[in-house]
Amino acid sequence: MTVASDLPGLFRFVLVRTSHPGNIGSAARAMRTMGFSRMNLVAPHRFPDREASAMAAGADDVLEGAGVHDGLVDALAGTRIAFGLSARRRGVNLPELTPREAAAQALAAAERGEEVALVFGNERTGLENDELARCHAMVRIPSVDDFSSLNLSQAVQVMAYELRIALLGEKLPSPPPLNDEPPADAAQMERFYEHLLQTLDDIDFHKGRAPTMIMLRLRKLFQRAQMDERELRMLHGILADAQRMAKLAGEKK
Ligand code: SAH
Repeated sequence: MTVASDLPGLFRFVLVRTSHPGNIGSAARAMRTMGFSRMNLVAPHRFPDREASAMAAGADDVLEGAGVHDGLVDALAGTRIAFGLSARRRGVNLPELTPREAAAQALAAAERGEEVALVFGNERTGLENDELARCHAMVRIPSVDDFSSLNLSQAVQVMAYELRIALLGEKLPSPPPLNDEPPADAAQMERFYEHLLQTLDDIDFHKGRAPTMIMLRLRKLFQRAQMDERELRMLHGILADAQRMAKLAGEKK
């Protein structure tokens, strides 16, 4: 079966701090069988390596084309959305998706022409919190609680398989929203925009210009974020502090 488009080229598999070169090779093979070939490695312990080539079983093109980076931020350059795969829920407050749900979200992004990253952690320690914080959602393969951790390349295989199924156009349930919390309602959003407008005024952001256009742009930005009530309270807090500091600065003058 073929995927009749260049969509697979928009997906990159990012392996972070991989300890065993054999796993890099197996991951390359897993990707290649599902039609993916863009691999990015972040600080691999050993690469290139004979073990990686042996385990790739012919998927040498994936290994040869793999980008090697010092940090995750570099490896993610150009991507619009990143999914962090993790066996355990970490301290990071990210929406949690199954591989199938993530594949639907990822495909929707790719169909908009956006590059997508699937990020996998180190064999022993997984993804660190600061690495997950660079992702937009966490993907957990629903393994059993008392033995939840798959081999790295097998996790790559599961995710690559679900992406391929999605690309092949299987019927999938419509993806859930990225935020589990319901978004704030229109009235709460209006109060927030009023507060934002007032604060921008207080810190002299407008400098005599009409605030209409900037407010429309800011609205677009914040509507897209679909903030929940708690997030809105946090932003009100930040605005209130900015107003307080502006007032202090004004009094000093
Ligand atoms: N103890 C580590 C396990 C690392 S396994 C942890 O808790 O994360 C290596 C990588 O394989 C993980 O970082 C993750 O990217 C992927 N992986 C393994 N099991 C997974 C699962 N059940 N769901 C999602 N990703 C998984």
